Amino acid sequence: MTLKETLNRVRIMPNGAIVMDNILACDGHSHNAILRVITHAHSDHIIDLSKSVRFCRYVISTPVTFDLITVLKGIKIRRKIGLSYDIPFNINDYIIVLKRARHIPGAAQVFLESPDGITIGYTGDFKLPGTPPLDVDILVTEATYGMPNYVRPPPEIIKQTLFDLVRRSLRVGPVTILGYHGKLQEVMELLRKEFPEVPFLASKRVYLVSQVVRRHGMNIYDIWPLNSLEGREIEAYGHYIFFDHIMSRRQGRGIRIYLSGWLFNKPMKKIASKEYIVAFSDHADFNQLLEYITSCSPKIVIVDSTRSSCAPIFAKEVRKRLNLTAISLPR
Ligand SMILES: [Zn+2]
Repeated sequence: MTLKETLNRVRIMPNGAIVMDNILACDGHSHNAILRVITHAHSDHIIDLSKSVRFCRYVISTPVTFDLITVLKGIKIRRKIGLSYDIPFNINDYIIVLKRARHIPGAAQVFLESPDGITIGYTGDFKLPGTPPLDVDILVTEATYGMPNYVRPPPEIIKQTLFDLVRRSLRVGPVTILGYHGKLQEVMELLRKEFPEVPFLASKRVYLVSQVVRRHGMNIYDIWPLNSLEGREIEAYGHYIFFDHIMSRRQGRGIRIYLSGWLFNKPMKKIASKEYIVAFSDHADFNQLLEYITSCSPKIVIVDSTRSSCAPIFAKEVRKRLNLTAISLPR
């Protein structure tokens, strides 16, 4: 397959839509596409969803993602198809499969097989381990951390660093954890296992998201909204972990821990007397991106430049290090 043929089949539009064979548009709207696929509930992946709800024949995503969108955005989606992982969906002789992506609850990769046998995949956002490689001819990948120096310590070290910091901090008072939806719940599940006796408090929306993912099987319990009666009692007692969105302006008490992927080469950084960044990310770092692409062994790699400013550099690194045809789109 030549690059020209590939570009006739896969486009990335400036609005962030990844359009495959003009049959489906992932994570953005295209008037030409019959289907809209949502890889996960983060806001940069549900762009123009209301347009797709009006104009596309179906909107496809995982049941968890649909529930999260309802809680976070309140968008009513008609003609939606909740597709579980690995269940094929057939339309116009195309086969569409959502594959697991380790990112936030409900996150999926997209696999498309066209009637002529060409296969196209899109990673959405992901990290390793826990994201199975897509066996495809054309691979569209995210590259949020696509610069060669965007490398983090092993996930296990970051996790233990977080546990140690929380343990030390709880000895002197409450702890506030700040992160994005989905990542917060992943960390809640880890901390619940490590600190089974410590009550959890959450801001209203973080609490609602937690209830959704709990219904879908995540092991999150003993958590109360900050503004509930129980929440205020726990707050007054002073021994708890409070979870809030990273953009929140609320001043949580005690030690504040920011979960951020934008810290490299070390697991933690102290930024003020009671504030720390822990390098807990839900995205692949540079090495994981290369590892993932290697395991997919595609013929052509397309890097999404609408969600990553380093996409052209990453495409160049893929050409150089993996000896694959790779471009970033849109150019
Ligand atoms: Zn995301």
